Amino acid sequence: MTSLLERPVFDALEHYSRMSSEELTEIIREHKKRLGNRLLILGHFYQKPEVFDLADVTGDSYGLSKAAAEAEECETILFCGVHFMAESARILAREDQVVLHPDLRAGCPMADMANLDTVTQAWEELSEVTDINRVVPVTYMNSDADLKAFCGERGGIVCTSSNAAKVYDWCYERGDRILFFPDEHLGRNTGNQRGIPSERMPVWDWKEYRGGLSENQIRDAKVLLWKGFCHVHTHFTVEQIRRVRENEPEAVILVHPECPEEVVALADGCGSTDYMRKQVLAAAPGTTVYLGTEMNHALNLQNRRPDLTVKYLSRSLCPNMWKIGLNDMAYTLDMEGRVNRVELPEEIIRPGRLALERMLEVA
Ligand code: SF4
Repeated sequence: MTSLLERPVFDALEHYSRMSSEELTEIIREHKKRLGNRLLILGHFYQKPEVFDLADVTGDSYGLSKAAAEAEECETILFCGVHFMAESARILAREDQVVLHPDLRAGCPMADMANLDTVTQAWEELSEVTDINRVVPVTYMNSDADLKAFCGERGGIVCTSSNAAKVYDWCYERGDRILFFPDEHLGRNTGNQRGIPSERMPVWDWKEYRGGLSENQIRDAKVLLWKGFCHVHTHFTVEQIRRVRENEPEAVILVHPECPEEVVALADGCGSTDYMRKQVLAAAPGTTVYLGTEMNHALNLQNRRPDLTVKYLSRSLCPNMWKIGLNDMAYTLDMEGRVNRVELPEEIIRPGRLALERMLEVA
């Protein structure tokens, strides 16, 4: 009989997909026990409960980046989240540390709405109209590593939903306007938070020449909002909030800043997934909380606080986060770094780290 290592990948994966959750959990726990501090499993808040419960550190993309940057003792990081998060861990980790992602196909459709070609094109078109040295590029964490490097090389920065408002302040100390990609809604909600009028936050339609904007619109802009969105968060509507208000007027509604601004305006609070976690953990027993974000965050928080009722505003699942399963984790750990390694070239790592370190400083 051939060993798992000698079998074709699909054959090996099938072997794990036939195992029960208990068997797979046992394999993963064995690796954790054997490796101790040498293995660090990071789990995003949107991971399904059985994966989430096996993580050593759970958090939002900001918290997990920080954990990766500070993980001095470990030799291997297994990142349970989507691909751009694992890439960021690769950028921030030491060179000798191995970063693994249980399913390299788990990407992010919103991150795919901006790429190096379209952003470079936008940068060139902006430079025809305005002093490009006064434009600060900001990429949301949810973007490919080469866009983080793009920002690092041009005096720009990465932001997360935890620190976006402070990142705006950081940018205006260094320039007059921001090119914000790839999420239009986070960009606009952050601008609203900082009191920027809507007419000074035009949308940059990357399929159009100069974003479909006039020279005056570009010169007058404080933020140019990339036309991109997360389908998980644009799923939430004003109507859903009204229904909760009618049926459960006492309930608290918290939404994520990737939601449209009209949804944010009606919620009781808006913030990152870590903000939601803190609000839920601090809630008085018996409180009902609705979350306008990926549904697994509500399920995981309900498990943490069984004395509350934590619900999702509407069923909205991120299919890419969902791809990470116990079978992928067990397979990846059993292969001991031979599969699912996250690798990036040095010319991306160096400037990408610069942009991410700026992000970590703007806490
Ligand atoms: S929830 Fe939205 S932004 Fe996050 S990984 Fe899924 S598609 Fe991307």
